[in-house]
Amino acid sequence: MRSIAVMNQKGGVGKTTSSVNLAAALAREGRRVCLMDLDPQGHASFHVGVEAGPDMPTVYDVFTQQTTLDHARQLVGENLSLIPANIDLAATEVELAGTQGREFFLRNAMQHWKEQNRFDYVVMDCPPSLGILTINALTAVNEVFIPLQPHFFALQGLSKLFETTALVTRRLNRDLRVTGIMMCLYESGTRLAADVTEDLKQFLHASDGDTPWASAKIFKSKVRRNIKLAEAPSFGQSIMDYAPTSSGAVDYLALAAEVLDMEAAMGVHHPATAMARAA
Ligand code: ADP
Ligand code: MG
Repeated sequence: MRSIAVMNQKGGVGKTTSSVNLAAALAREGRRVCLMDLDPQGHASFHVGVEAGPDMPTVYDVFTQQTTLDHARQLVGENLSLIPANIDLAATEVELAGTQGREFFLRNAMQHWKEQNRFDYVVMDCPPSLGILTINALTAVNEVFIPLQPHFFALQGLSKLFETTALVTRRLNRDLRVTGIMMCLYESGTRLAADVTEDLKQFLHASDGDTPWASAKIFKSKVRRNIKLAEAPSFGQSIMDYAPTSSGAVDYLALAAEVLDMEAAMGVHHPATAMARAA
Protein backbone atom coordinates (compact mmCIF):
# COMPACT_ATOMS: atom_id res chain seq x y z
CA MET A 1 0.00 0.00 0.00
CA ARG A 2 1.42 3.37 -0.98
CA SER A 3 0.38 6.21 1.28
CA ILE A 4 0.90 9.78 0.14
CA ALA A 5 0.40 13.08 1.97
CA VAL A 6 -0.17 15.99 -0.41
CA MET A 7 1.30 18.81 1.58
CA ASN A 8 2.32 22.45 1.45
CA GLN A 9 1.64 24.95 4.21
CA LYS A 10 0.73 27.54 1.62
CA GLY A 11 -2.88 27.75 0.53
CA GLY A 12 -4.04 27.85 -3.07
CA VAL A 13 -1.12 25.91 -4.55
CA GLY A 14 -3.17 22.95 -5.80
CA LYS A 15 -3.18 20.49 -2.87
CA THR A 16 -6.87 19.68 -3.02
CA THR A 17 -7.14 19.75 -6.81
CA SER A 18 -4.16 17.41 -7.05
CA SER A 19 -5.24 15.04 -4.25
CA VAL A 20 -8.69 14.59 -5.74
CA ASN A 21 -7.75 14.30 -9.39
CA LEU A 22 -4.71 12.16 -8.77
CA ALA A 23 -6.77 9.81 -6.57
CA ALA A 24 -9.48 9.64 -9.24
CA ALA A 25 -6.94 9.05 -12.02
CA LEU A 26 -5.26 6.23 -10.08
CA ALA A 27 -8.67 4.65 -9.45
CA ARG A 28 -9.36 4.75 -13.19
CA GLU A 29 -6.16 2.81 -13.72
CA GLY A 30 -7.60 0.03 -11.59
CA ARG A 31 -5.92 0.86 -8.31
CA ARG A 32 -7.92 0.66 -5.08
CA VAL A 33 -7.72 4.21 -3.78
CA CYS A 34 -8.77 5.93 -0.59
CA LEU A 35 -8.82 9.72 -0.56
CA MET A 36 -8.59 11.16 2.93
CA ASP A 37 -9.72 14.72 3.58
CA LEU A 38 -7.63 16.23 6.38
CA ASP A 39 -8.62 19.85 5.82
CA PRO A 40 -11.43 21.26 8.02
CA GLN A 41 -12.57 23.20 4.96
CA GLY A 42 -13.77 19.88 3.52
CA HIS A 43 -12.93 20.91 -0.04
CA ALA A 44 -11.74 17.47 -1.12
CA SER A 45 -14.98 15.92 0.17
CA PHE A 46 -17.02 18.54 -1.65
CA HIS A 47 -14.99 17.94 -4.83
CA VAL A 48 -16.12 14.31 -4.92
CA GLY A 49 -19.71 15.26 -4.16
CA VAL A 50 -19.83 14.82 -0.38
CA GLU A 51 -20.94 17.48 2.06
CA ALA A 52 -20.51 16.01 5.51
CA GLY A 53 -23.44 17.00 7.69
CA PRO A 54 -23.60 16.60 11.47
CA ASP A 55 -24.74 12.95 11.31
CA MET A 56 -22.09 11.72 8.92
CA PRO A 57 -19.03 10.07 10.48
CA THR A 58 -15.91 11.99 9.49
CA VAL A 59 -12.19 11.88 10.10
CA TYR A 60 -12.79 14.09 13.14
CA ASP A 61 -14.61 11.18 14.78
CA VAL A 62 -11.60 9.01 14.01
CA PHE A 63 -9.31 11.49 15.78
CA THR A 64 -11.62 11.59 18.79
CA GLN A 65 -11.86 7.79 18.65
CA GLN A 66 -15.61 7.79 18.29
CA THR A 67 -15.39 5.79 15.10
CA THR A 68 -13.00 3.83 12.88
CA LEU A 69 -11.71 4.68 9.42
CA ASP A 70 -13.69 1.74 8.03
CA HIS A 71 -16.88 3.15 9.49
CA ALA A 72 -16.22 6.68 8.19
CA ARG A 73 -15.28 5.47 4.71
CA GLN A 74 -17.68 5.98 1.80
CA LEU A 75 -17.53 4.72 -1.75
CA VAL A 76 -17.58 7.71 -4.12
CA GLY A 77 -16.66 6.00 -7.38
CA GLU A 78 -15.36 2.78 -8.84
CA ASN A 79 -12.26 1.84 -6.81
CA LEU A 80 -12.46 5.19 -5.03
CA SER A 81 -13.28 5.70 -1.36
CA LEU A 82 -13.41 8.87 0.69
CA ILE A 83 -12.82 9.61 4.35
CA PRO A 84 -14.72 12.89 4.60
CA ALA A 85 -13.99 15.95 6.71
CA ASN A 86 -15.90 19.01 7.75
CA ILE A 87 -15.39 22.02 9.96
CA ASP A 88 -15.50 19.85 13.13
CA LEU A 89 -11.94 18.90 12.29
CA ALA A 90 -10.81 22.43 13.13
CA ALA A 91 -11.21 21.56 16.83
CA THR A 92 -8.67 18.72 16.65
CA GLU A 93 -5.71 21.03 17.06
CA VAL A 94 -7.00 22.26 20.43
CA GLU A 95 -8.59 19.02 21.57
CA LEU A 96 -5.47 16.95 21.04
CA ALA A 97 -3.13 19.52 22.56
CA GLY A 98 -1.38 17.92 25.50
CA THR A 99 -2.66 14.43 24.67
CA GLN A 100 0.04 11.80 24.89
CA GLY A 101 0.90 10.31 21.51
CA ARG A 102 -1.24 12.80 19.59
CA GLU A 103 1.04 12.53 16.54
CA PHE A 104 0.16 8.84 16.13
CA PHE A 105 -3.65 8.84 16.03
CA LEU A 106 -3.92 8.48 12.27
CA ARG A 107 -1.02 6.06 12.01
CA ASN A 108 -2.64 3.79 14.59
CA ALA A 109 -6.06 4.08 12.94
CA MET A 110 -4.51 3.05 9.60
CA GLN A 111 -2.28 0.25 10.84
CA HIS A 112 -4.67 -2.57 9.89
CA TRP A 113 -5.00 -1.17 6.34
CA LYS A 114 -1.25 -1.43 5.96
CA GLU A 115 -1.15 -4.94 7.37
CA GLN A 116 -4.02 -6.12 5.17
CA ASN A 117 -2.88 -4.14 2.12
CA ARG A 118 -6.41 -2.80 2.12
CA PHE A 119 -5.78 -0.19 -0.62
CA ASP A 120 -3.16 0.34 -3.29
CA TYR A 121 -3.10 4.08 -2.55
CA VAL A 122 -4.13 6.28 0.34
CA VAL A 123 -3.96 9.94 -0.69
CA MET A 124 -4.26 12.58 2.01
CA ASP A 125 -5.26 16.17 1.31
CA CYS A 126 -3.49 18.17 4.04
CA PRO A 127 -4.56 21.54 5.42
CA PRO A 128 -2.48 24.66 4.73
CA SER A 129 -0.50 24.50 7.98
CA LEU A 130 2.14 22.43 9.70
CA GLY A 131 -0.06 21.71 12.70
CA ILE A 132 -1.15 18.48 14.33
CA LEU A 133 -3.28 17.30 11.38
CA THR A 134 -0.36 17.56 8.97
CA ILE A 135 1.96 15.95 11.52
CA ASN A 136 -0.50 13.07 11.85
CA ALA A 137 -0.51 12.68 8.08
CA LEU A 138 3.30 12.69 7.92
CA THR A 139 3.53 10.16 10.74
CA ALA A 140 1.04 7.85 9.01
CA VAL A 141 2.34 7.89 5.41
CA ASN A 142 5.49 6.80 3.60
CA GLU A 143 5.47 9.47 0.92
CA VAL A 144 5.00 13.21 0.59
CA PHE A 145 4.01 14.94 -2.63
CA ILE A 146 4.48 18.69 -2.68
CA PRO A 147 2.44 20.79 -5.08
CA LEU A 148 4.12 24.04 -6.07
CA GLN A 149 2.81 27.00 -7.92
CA PRO A 150 5.82 28.26 -9.85
CA HIS A 151 5.79 31.94 -9.04
CA PHE A 152 8.46 34.13 -7.60
CA PHE A 153 7.84 33.09 -3.98
CA ALA A 154 7.34 29.39 -4.70
CA LEU A 155 10.56 28.26 -3.06
CA GLN A 156 10.07 30.50 -0.07
CA GLY A 157 8.69 28.38 2.74
CA LEU A 158 9.90 25.24 1.06
CA SER A 159 12.84 24.95 3.45
CA LYS A 160 10.44 25.10 6.41
CA LEU A 161 8.39 22.38 4.80
CA PHE A 162 11.46 20.23 4.18
CA GLU A 163 12.67 20.79 7.76
CA THR A 164 9.32 19.56 9.03
CA THR A 165 9.62 16.34 7.03
CA ALA A 166 13.16 15.88 8.34
CA LEU A 167 11.97 16.36 11.90
CA VAL A 168 9.18 13.85 11.44
CA THR A 169 11.60 11.39 9.85
CA ARG A 170 13.95 11.67 12.84
CA ARG A 171 11.39 11.59 15.61
CA LEU A 172 8.19 9.95 14.42
CA ASN A 173 8.40 8.06 11.14
CA ARG A 174 11.67 6.74 9.78
CA ASP A 175 10.03 5.59 6.54
CA LEU A 176 8.93 9.06 5.43
CA ARG A 177 10.31 10.36 2.12
CA VAL A 178 9.46 13.30 -0.08
CA THR A 179 9.02 11.41 -3.33
CA GLY A 180 7.28 13.84 -5.66
CA ILE A 181 7.09 17.52 -6.49
CA MET A 182 4.20 18.59 -8.70
CA MET A 183 4.14 21.82 -10.64
CA CYS A 184 0.58 23.11 -10.51
CA LEU A 185 -1.10 26.16 -12.05
CA TYR A 186 1.70 26.06 -14.57
CA GLU A 187 1.98 28.78 -17.16
CA SER A 188 3.91 27.03 -19.86
CA GLY A 189 6.25 29.17 -21.86
CA THR A 190 6.91 31.66 -19.10
CA ARG A 191 10.47 32.24 -18.05
CA LEU A 192 9.57 32.21 -14.37
CA ALA A 193 8.08 28.72 -14.43
CA ALA A 194 11.23 27.36 -16.03
CA ASP A 195 13.43 29.26 -13.55
CA VAL A 196 11.62 27.91 -10.52
CA THR A 197 11.92 24.35 -11.82
CA GLU A 198 15.63 24.88 -12.46
CA ASP A 199 16.26 26.40 -9.00
CA LEU A 200 14.44 23.52 -7.39
CA LYS A 201 16.45 20.95 -9.34
CA GLN A 202 19.66 22.56 -8.16
CA PHE A 203 18.46 22.67 -4.58
CA LEU A 204 17.57 18.97 -4.62
CA HIS A 205 20.82 18.13 -6.32
CA ALA A 206 22.88 20.00 -3.74
CA SER A 207 21.09 18.31 -0.84
CA ASP A 208 22.73 15.86 1.49
CA GLY A 209 22.04 12.22 0.56
CA ASP A 210 20.32 11.32 3.82
CA THR A 211 17.70 14.03 3.83
CA PRO A 212 14.19 12.67 3.27
CA TRP A 213 13.91 14.69 0.04
CA ALA A 214 17.23 13.62 -1.50
CA SER A 215 15.57 11.46 -4.15
CA ALA A 216 12.43 13.55 -4.70
CA LYS A 217 11.28 13.51 -8.29
CA ILE A 218 10.06 16.66 -9.97
CA PHE A 219 7.30 15.22 -12.11
CA LYS A 220 7.77 15.85 -15.80
CA SER A 221 4.05 16.31 -16.28
CA LYS A 222 3.11 19.82 -15.23
CA VAL A 223 -0.46 20.73 -14.48
CA ARG A 224 -1.28 23.69 -16.66
CA ARG A 225 -3.68 26.41 -15.62
CA ASN A 226 -7.09 25.28 -16.82
CA ILE A 227 -10.42 26.83 -15.86
CA LYS A 228 -12.14 23.42 -16.02
CA LEU A 229 -10.11 22.37 -12.98
CA ALA A 230 -11.59 25.26 -11.04
CA GLU A 231 -15.13 24.46 -12.24
CA ALA A 232 -15.14 20.71 -11.55
CA PRO A 233 -15.52 20.92 -7.71
CA SER A 234 -18.91 22.64 -7.92
CA PHE A 235 -20.17 19.66 -9.92
CA GLY A 236 -18.76 17.18 -7.39
CA GLN A 237 -16.78 15.52 -10.15
CA SER A 238 -13.17 14.75 -10.90
CA ILE A 239 -11.71 16.47 -13.93
CA MET A 240 -11.79 13.20 -15.89
CA ASP A 241 -15.56 13.01 -15.37
CA TYR A 242 -16.30 16.69 -15.70
CA ALA A 243 -14.18 17.56 -18.74
CA PRO A 244 -12.44 14.45 -20.06
CA THR A 245 -10.81 16.19 -23.03
CA SER A 246 -9.59 19.26 -21.11
CA SER A 247 -5.90 19.94 -20.58
CA GLY A 248 -6.57 19.45 -16.88
CA ALA A 249 -7.70 15.86 -17.44
CA VAL A 250 -4.77 15.19 -19.77
CA ASP A 251 -2.29 16.60 -17.24
CA TYR A 252 -3.59 14.70 -14.24
CA LEU A 253 -3.72 11.43 -16.18
CA ALA A 254 -0.11 12.00 -17.26
CA LEU A 255 0.87 12.75 -13.68
CA ALA A 256 -0.88 9.58 -12.49
CA ALA A 257 1.01 7.58 -15.12
CA GLU A 258 4.29 8.85 -13.66
CA VAL A 259 3.12 7.96 -10.17
CA LEU A 260 2.31 4.44 -11.37
CA ASP A 261 5.72 4.22 -13.04
CA MET A 262 7.34 4.58 -9.61
CA GLU A 263 5.72 1.34 -8.43
CA ALA A 264 8.28 -1.06 -9.86
CA ALA A 265 11.23 0.80 -8.34
CA MET A 266 9.44 0.78 -4.98
CA GLY A 267 8.87 -2.94 -5.15
CA VAL A 268 5.11 -2.51 -5.39
CA HIS A 269 3.64 -5.22 -7.55
CA HIS A 270 0.21 -4.79 -8.92
CA PRO A 271 -1.69 -7.26 -11.08
CA ALA A 272 -2.89 -4.53 -13.45
CA THR A 273 0.72 -3.51 -14.21
CA ALA A 274 1.86 -7.10 -14.63
CA MET A 275 -1.00 -7.70 -17.07
CA ALA A 276 -0.17 -4.60 -19.08
CA ARG A 277 3.49 -5.70 -19.32
CA ALA A 278 2.55 -9.20 -20.44
CA ALA A 279 0.21 -7.88 -23.16
P1 ADP B 1 -5.00 24.26 -2.02
O1 ADP B 1 -5.72 22.99 -1.68
O2 ADP B 1 -3.51 24.11 -2.00
O3 ADP B 1 -5.45 25.42 -1.20
P2 ADP B 1 -6.58 24.20 -4.44
O4 ADP B 1 -6.33 22.88 -5.07
O5 ADP B 1 -7.84 24.35 -3.68
O6 ADP B 1 -5.33 24.61 -3.54
O7 ADP B 1 -6.46 25.30 -5.58
C1 ADP B 1 -6.69 26.67 -5.31
C2 ADP B 1 -7.66 27.24 -6.34
O8 ADP B 1 -7.08 27.17 -7.64
C3 ADP B 1 -8.96 26.47 -6.42
O9 ADP B 1 -9.99 27.37 -6.70
C4 ADP B 1 -8.76 25.52 -7.60
O10 ADP B 1 -9.97 25.19 -8.23
C5 ADP B 1 -7.87 26.35 -8.49
N1 ADP B 1 -6.94 25.54 -9.29
C6 ADP B 1 -6.10 24.59 -8.84
N2 ADP B 1 -5.33 24.10 -9.84
C7 ADP B 1 -5.70 24.76 -10.97
C8 ADP B 1 -5.26 24.76 -12.34
N3 ADP B 1 -4.29 23.95 -12.77
N4 ADP B 1 -5.86 25.61 -13.21
C9 ADP B 1 -6.84 26.44 -12.78
N5 ADP B 1 -7.29 26.51 -11.53
C10 ADP B 1 -6.73 25.70 -10.61
MG1 MG C 1 -7.04 22.58 -0.10
